[in-house]
Amino acid sequence: MYKEQHQRLPIEIKSKKELDLMRAAGKIVAEVLADMQQNAKAGVSTGDLERRARAILEKYGAQSPFLGYPNVDDKGPAFPGWICASLNEEIVHGIPRNKRILKEGDLLKIDVGAYYGGFIGDSAWTFAIGQVSAKAQHLMQVTEASLYEGIAQVQSNKRLWDVIAAVQQKVESNGLTVIREYQGHGVGRQMHEEPSIPNFLDKEFDKRPMNIALKPGMTIALEPMVVTGKWDTKVLGDKWTVITKDRGLAAHYEHTVAVTENGPEILTLWK
Ligand code: MG
Ligand code: MG
Repeated sequence: MYKEQHQRLPIEIKSKKELDLMRAAGKIVAEVLADMQQNAKAGVSTGDLERRARAILEKYGAQSPFLGYPNVDDKGPAFPGWICASLNEEIVHGIPRNKRILKEGDLLKIDVGAYYGGFIGDSAWTFAIGQVSAKAQHLMQVTEASLYEGIAQVQSNKRLWDVIAAVQQKVESNGLTVIREYQGHGVGRQMHEEPSIPNFLDKEFDKRPMNIALKPGMTIALEPMVVTGKWDTKVLGDKWTVITKDRGLAAHYEHTVAVTENGPEILTLWK
C-alpha cells in the first residue's frame, strides 16, 4: 500500500520516462473526476461516489494515496476514504459516507489521487448539485479561473511566486478569500513533496521560500481553496473534515501540472 513518508522529498526534476509515468497516474485521476461529474447528483451519497472512484482506481491497479494517510501528529485516525468528498462549508478532507446524501443546491468538492507506476496524480474539482445559488456559481467560476491563471504562469524560468500571485490576484479582485492553512505542493513519488505552495503572498508572509525558479521536469499540484467569508478554518470531531469557522461556502480546484519546455502541461486534464 502507498505510504507517505513523514519527511517530505525535495522537488525533483523528472526524466522523460518519469513524466510519462506521471501522465499515466494523472490520466486515471482525470477519468475518476469525469465520472464524478456524470454521477454527482441529488439523491446519490458521497459513499456511492467513493465506490465508483475506487472501482476506477482498481481497474488500473492504482492505489489511493489518501486511504490510510496518517492524521496530523498521528493524533487521530488515518484517513478512511479512497477520495475526499466535502460539502458546502467543508473545504477539504471530508470523509465519504453512505448517509451523506447529495441534495439540490449543494456544492460538492471531490479530491482524487492515484498512485500508479510509482508516481502520484492529484486533482480536485467542485461540482454544483442541480441549481446552486448565484453566490456559489460566482465562487466556482472565480476559483476555477484562478487555478488557470496560476497554471498559465507555470513556465520555465518563472518563479513560484509568479504562480501564487496570479491565483491570489484573481481571487481577491473578485471579492473572495484564499484559505491560508492549506496549500498546494510539489508532487511526484510522494503526494506531498517540497515545496509547499500557498495561494497567497501577504506582506507579513516571508515570500523568500517562494523564490524558486521553475524548471522543465518539475511537477506541482496547484490547488486554490477559496471561500466567500473569512479564511479561518476548523477541523470537525472526525479529525479530518476542514470547515470554514464562519460557515462561509468553499470551493476547491486542483491540477497536477508539469513544467515543460513548451509551457505548462496539465497532467490531470479531463474537461
Ligand atoms: Mg488533492
Ligand atoms: Mg493536493
